[in-house]
Amino acid sequence: MLSRPLFLGSEIYRGSSYGPSHPLRVPRVSTVIDLARALGWLGPDQYMTSPRAKPAALTAWHTPDYIAALQRAEATQEARPEDIARHHIGTVSNPVYPEIYRRPATAAGASILAGELLADGGIIHSPAGGTHHGMPDRASGFCYLNDAVLAILSLRAHGARRIAYIDIDAHHGDGVEFAFGADPECILISVHQEKRWPGTGTLADDGGGHSHNLPVPRGLNDTEFAYILNELILPKVTRFAPDAIVLQCGADAVEEDPLSHLELSNNAHWSAVAALMGLAPRLLVLGGGGYNPWSVGRLWTGVWAVLNGHPIPERLPPEPEAVLRALEFKGNRRGRNPPEHWFTTLRDAPRPGPIRDEIRHGVGVLIRRDT
Ligand SMILES: [Zn+2]
Repeated sequence: MLSRPLFLGSEIYRGSSYGPSHPLRVPRVSTVIDLARALGWLGPDQYMTSPRAKPAALTAWHTPDYIAALQRAEATQEARPEDIARHHIGTVSNPVYPEIYRRPATAAGASILAGELLADGGIIHSPAGGTHHGMPDRASGFCYLNDAVLAILSLRAHGARRIAYIDIDAHHGDGVEFAFGADPECILISVHQEKRWPGTGTLADDGGGHSHNLPVPRGLNDTEFAYILNELILPKVTRFAPDAIVLQCGADAVEEDPLSHLELSNNAHWSAVAALMGLAPRLLVLGGGGYNPWSVGRLWTGVWAVLNGHPIPERLPPEPEAVLRALEFKGNRRGRNPPEHWFTTLRDAPRPGPIRDEIRHGVGVLIRRDT
């Protein structure tokens, strides 16, 4: 059993970009590593470099043709017409970029390793993971592989049967639902903005029986999130009694995110992490979406603090502040004049609000479902 939480990272994410106008041009994992180290929270005993998954390991869920196409696209830096048509690589969302195979294979390697390292219990944070839209034979929504699916398969291969997958990204975890929505030894709960890409994950969609989808309206606030957590997520997970919990902790449901219209503060995500700890012997916290470099870095560093029980300082010391001041957000208005607290704090001010009827209704429908 892991005696302390383990952080799986890699230097491959530093400087890697999907291209100058793509949302994933911003640094994310490297910021978390730098912030956590600057805060004294990430000694060498808690950090492990993620291995790159071998193609054979990826074919546990992905097709060999697709893996070969990703490797070929990385080698040639171009997509053939059939790669675009069959595998959706070389599109605006899923461009060919220098690490198009190695980067997702490294995040997948972390998820596969996590399943092994958690065999006897423990906690792992892999913020590069959470690529929940990846499909067996195609890229989707910036996700080339689906490391969350590979994590669940690896947990299963190492002794965990019953898996709770909780997804609090602003988008529906459609790839994971495709893989496990009908699996009686899985419970899937996804909270996401309604009527957003990829369009799946309606309230009525049960993914084949074991998926719980709660589409939420624009402006989701912290009070509403606490209601969802306490009335839906925690009772369902507790009753399911999982052997492992996988939390996709995407950072795109916060107010500052440029791609979604939800208005959480990062306190919401941290409360979910804290509440899920201890509900299963194994906990894997993945990243996911998140396209504002400050909010992503601050949120996931705070996740690591919660997992370790570190109090979050009211004001950051100079060294982590310098990490945040060095970030840039080119091509977005939020990068022009960032508010001071993006540099000097990890914790957002809470964003409370009324609980809307639509949310009460959705939670009620899902609570009444048997599974
Ligand atoms: Zn997302």
